[in-house]
Amino acid sequence: MIKKEEIELILKKYDRKKLRIATLCSHSSLQIFNGAWEEGFRTIGIRVGENRVTYDAFPYAKPDMFITVEEFRDVERFQELLIEHNAILVPHGSLIEFVGRRIEELAVPILGNRKALLWENDRQKMIKWMQKAGLRIPKTLEPGKIDRPCIVKFPGAKGGRGYVVVKNEAEFERKMRERGITDEMLAKSVIQEYIVGIRFYPHYFYSLFHDDGFRVGEGRLELLGMDQRVEDNIDEIYRANTFGYSPEPQFTVVGNAPIVARESLLDQLLTIGQKTVDASIELFGGIPGPFCVETTCTENLEFYVFEISSRIVAGTNLFPRGSTYSWFTFNEPMSMGRRIAREIKIAAKKNALEKLVY
Ligand code: AMP
Repeated sequence: MIKKEEIELILKKYDRKKLRIATLCSHSSLQIFNGAWEEGFRTIGIRVGENRVTYDAFPYAKPDMFITVEEFRDVERFQELLIEHNAILVPHGSLIEFVGRRIEELAVPILGNRKALLWENDRQKMIKWMQKAGLRIPKTLEPGKIDRPCIVKFPGAKGGRGYVVVKNEAEFERKMRERGITDEMLAKSVIQEYIVGIRFYPHYFYSLFHDDGFRVGEGRLELLGMDQRVEDNIDEIYRANTFGYSPEPQFTVVGNAPIVARESLLDQLLTIGQKTVDASIELFGGIPGPFCVETTCTENLEFYVFEISSRIVAGTNLFPRGSTYSWFTFNEPMSMGRRIAREIKIAAKKNALEKLVY
């Protein structure tokens, strides 16, 4: 992995008055570009092919400059240009999906701590992170011990696609055979207890440049919004059930819907964010910037956490002018994209960008 000192050397050569915000043209880029624009930054979009239509349709979310590559994996094609333009790269789900482990070597300042992105991308590491944080997490079971509904998560499954629900060992064996799942794939999969409840995906921002508000670690934890993913077909499966059809449940993310939590649940959600930050500091040096945890609240009003996203999530696309929660923190329109740009501005002013990027 590229050393933090090397990134700091690159940063030192940056013209801080001409900083740009860059991201891959995908996932939450419209929001990131719009937020950067609101804070007065120029922007760079890295795109595959000439997918201009989307950006032409949304002039206030169009980057000032495009870098066109054949594949997002072609980091050599864009990293030098980004450095030349004093750019900070904002990571999102598509960077993790398409660039993957090459993130380790990417010679560009990345918003946040790039180590966190690698912890997110490794299921075993993520479980370790959640355990260290002391979060309530679903049980992980061995095939021979399946005694309740479980969700089998395969490696590389994107957005829940292809997950399988099983209730006992025989069903597990049968479904794995039917789907041609190899032992090698199984070794990298997780069989997780299925938690019944209502899903809440809170969006947090961890700032190192404020000493008011909810103090966590050496900074402030902000809760900026919350969503629920809309998943096909599980979310509307009851419609088929009404006429006696029970298709295999699927969890393919197709969108996001806003949600607010009952006010008395906010303490629990904030504490989950706090514990996630505290553990990240101990394990790999912290997680400045945006992150999200996927939770389910059971009927006993207990939250289970089953995933951490250590960067901006697509659920924040719901709130280009801010959410219920961001209003209570900022009293001005504040999307996550804008929050990121605001933090870069503050860090640059304090001459402390190295605290915010790696
Ligand atoms: P993930 O890939 O972990 O984000 O999961 C994709 C989707 O599967 C989630 O958004 C949930 O709807 C569902 N899911 C994941 N893990 C669990 C679990 N342990 N219990 C119930 N539903 C889950």
